[in-house]
Amino acid sequence: MSRANRRADPLRIALERLRRDFPGKSRSWIKRALLRLPYVREVRDGLYVVEGVRELGDWKPLYQVWWSGREGRWECTCYYSTWGWRRRRGICTHVASVLLYRRFKRAVEAVENRPVYFASAEVECVNVKVRGSLEHRITPLEKAGSLLDFARGRRYVVYIIAEGPSAELLCDGSPVELAWERLSLKVAKALLEG
Ligand SMILES: [Zn+2]
Repeated sequence: MSRANRRADPLRIALERLRRDFPGKSRSWIKRALLRLPYVREVRDGLYVVEGVRELGDWKPLYQVWWSGREGRWECTCYYSTWGWRRRRGICTHVASVLLYRRFKRAVEAVENRPVYFASAEVECVNVKVRGSLEHRITPLEKAGSLLDFARGRRYVVYIIAEGPSAELLCDGSPVELAWERLSLKVAKALLEG
């Protein structure tokens, strides 16, 4: 994975933020939050259902996690059981998984909405190459004909998404001038995928 892609990995960003926001928490607390992540479901903003996982010591099929504005903190149904006060003091990992989920969702949105460069072009050549793109698609405009046609070249439409306007489209080795547009990654991907 390239450096740029690693930076834009939403899960990595979310984990870093959780660690930063809860510096006193152990590695196992973070790990449990991560293991629970697939079991978190958002009912609405501030209300979540976390499926119980036997391997993580859960004894109930579902836990509810919600934000209490009055208490100014996150609550979990497990706080209302025997020894619940102890779990509350430590922030249970059901709540931790919700905190990770929220950071993950925000990171996904931020990655999708980040600005990128997009260009499309029609070219006619034997060899089409794109260099330095985040993602690109090269589609032939017509079916391959005879061998002679193949040697002459074919028409292609090329879509390119890049971090900066420096990505290159090469048609038989010559760079093609591109008209870059600045779009969000989400929109650019929709255009690329057609
Ligand atoms: Zn809990």
